[in-house]
Amino acid sequence: MSYSRAVIVGGGFAGLLSARVLADTFQQVVLIDRDHIPPDATIRAGVPQAHHQHHLLPGGLEILNRLFPDLGPDLDRQGGKIAGPSDWFAYTPHGKTYRLSRKQTEPIEGSAPLRMQSRSLLEHVIRGYVERIANVEVRYETRVDEPRFEGDRIAGVVTSQGEPINADLVIDASGRVSRTLGWLAKLGYEAPPASVIECDFAYSSVFYRPADPDAFAGTGFLISSARTGNYVKRGGSLVKIEDDKWLVTLAGRLGDHPPADIDGINQYIATLHAPHIGELLRDAEPVSQPHQYKFPRSVNRHYERLEAFPEGLLPIGDAICHINPGYAQGMSSVCRQVSVLSELLDPTREDHPPPHDLWRAFFPAVFEQTRAPWLFAALSDFSKKGTTGDFPEHEKEVIKKLKQLSTQADEGDMAAARLVDQVFDMQLPLSTLAAV
Ligand SMILES: Cc1cc2nc3c(=O)[nH]c(=O)nc-3n(C[C@H](O)[C@H](O)[C@H](O)COP(=O)(O)OP(=O)(O)OC[C@H]3O[C@@H](n4cnc5c(N)ncnc54)[C@H](O)[C@@H]3O)c2cc1C
Repeated sequence: MSYSRAVIVGGGFAGLLSARVLADTFQQVVLIDRDHIPPDATIRAGVPQAHHQHHLLPGGLEILNRLFPDLGPDLDRQGGKIAGPSDWFAYTPHGKTYRLSRKQTEPIEGSAPLRMQSRSLLEHVIRGYVERIANVEVRYETRVDEPRFEGDRIAGVVTSQGEPINADLVIDASGRVSRTLGWLAKLGYEAPPASVIECDFAYSSVFYRPADPDAFAGTGFLISSARTGNYVKRGGSLVKIEDDKWLVTLAGRLGDHPPADIDGINQYIATLHAPHIGELLRDAEPVSQPHQYKFPRSVNRHYERLEAFPEGLLPIGDAICHINPGYAQGMSSVCRQVSVLSELLDPTREDHPPPHDLWRAFFPAVFEQTRAPWLFAALSDFSKKGTTGDFPEHEKEVIKKLKQLSTQADEGDMAAARLVDQVFDMQLPLSTLAAV
């Protein structure tokens, strides 16, 4: 079955992946972004989070590899890094661990690798694939603020140039600034209820050019805060990325945000539990200005609870759920949402829902996919005194199961450790735990 046109508002991570999937079912896909898109992997204005670390978890990577089979080799060629079980670890006040959430003194052999590169490189490589799909048309430096209404359904968009574009389906992939809520209000629909966690989190990051890019073994490390003392809200990471650069990202929360100037950053680093990071950076030259990103709250919009929704519209990605970036789950959550879209629109199936009706099956399935990242982030956020908001009480049973598995993992049960990791890494859904 084939439909005539889909329009995607936002050509970031969710927009690009959605374009790849919709191109299998729609005769034409129009991908619109407000930004000037640089011809290389330069950071652009519409994705300011690209100044900061962007690790790709194994669950997201699996889906990307299916959508873009050349991704791994292409990232390797352009200097992207892979972190195997022994290449990525954390320094805590109690020593080195291979899993931040627990004491894990040895790498877990057989666990899936992480991918590490700048966000801009990842997006740039994926954009190249999408732009080469024959039935995808891109329109950059074009903003979409208004949809085209036909009665109470969405039948396309109007661009900032005033051009109407008709569509059978409009995907809102405009990220955290999502247009959907405003459009629902205009059409007289109820807004979805939202779960909110006030995490008051911030990153400050700097790219460095080290004298010796391999001055430390492995691909990178995290630094977790002490549980007591003056700096309990601080942490950071140092990772090797493409072009022989290192990316240092400092994290702080609940009023103790990392500063946005080099002197302040150096002082902040000196308070972290990895004394040698200061030594490593002594032989490294900063090659970017420091950038700070404040992330006051995580928001999960419960579209799955709505009984009425305009035909022809589908938000996706951060437009539905954006989570404290400290757990590196956002892009993988987008991948899982896009895989729901892909299953629902599978061109080999005769019985898939028509575009105007997709929302009924899409929202509940997406909610299932966001449960795991939301829960892990919530448990960690709420373990820090001062976090407020909606604790996921409804996940009581799963939380009990997770605690039990984590205790088993602490006692050396590697099968339990691997299972928890696979759910955190989004290789397995949260519902897997119910069957254990
Ligand atoms: C500081 C930080 C660090 C992060 N680190 C990680 C990490 O380590 N690992 C991870 O997996 N995730 C990470 N994330 C999360 C990740 O960045 C997001 O989950 C992901 O980018 C969401 O993709 P998206 O397409 O929904 O939104 P975006 O990628 O933000 O894209 C939205 C796009 O919409 C465009 N747009 C917006 N409005 C309009 C409009 N009106 N018209 C046309 N275009 C429009 C924008 O220009 C942009 O291109 C991090 C996030 C932050 C904030």
